[in-house]
Amino acid sequence: MNRQRLSAARKRIHQLQQAMEDDLRVFLERTPLLKGRLYEAQTRCGKPGCRCNRGELHTAMVLAYRGGEKQYNRCPADQDIPLLHEMTGRYQDFRQARARLVKASRELLEQIGVMERERLALGEERFRKTETGKRVP
Ligand SMILES: [Zn+2]
Repeated sequence: MNRQRLSAARKRIHQLQQAMEDDLRVFLERTPLLKGRLYEAQTRCGKPGCRCNRGELHTAMVLAYRGGEKQYNRCPADQDIPLLHEMTGRYQDFRQARARLVKASRELLEQIGVMERERLALGEERFRKTETGKRVP
């Protein structure tokens, strides 16, 4: 029973170590991040007679910028979209990796707790089988 718990904990710790190593790679990259999200929005231009008034909406890329004190949405220039897509995408990846790491760290501590309890139990078992020696003078 003891051995099974130890073995399961050890296996899980190895899995967590692997997952955490993968996420650490995301943090160690050197590429710039931008706090925000880029998405495609459907809009009406408001011009009378435009097709959007008949339900054929325009599509526009919108940057929801969340980096400064003021948060705002704006439509970036076409030539900037690939860069903004890259930087905001990497930021989302970074945040997701961070959330996974927080969760994995908690579980790692739990599994380390299991290892400690089970190994101490093993040690106690062996200790009880040792000879009773002389009393400490
Ligand atoms: Zn329109």
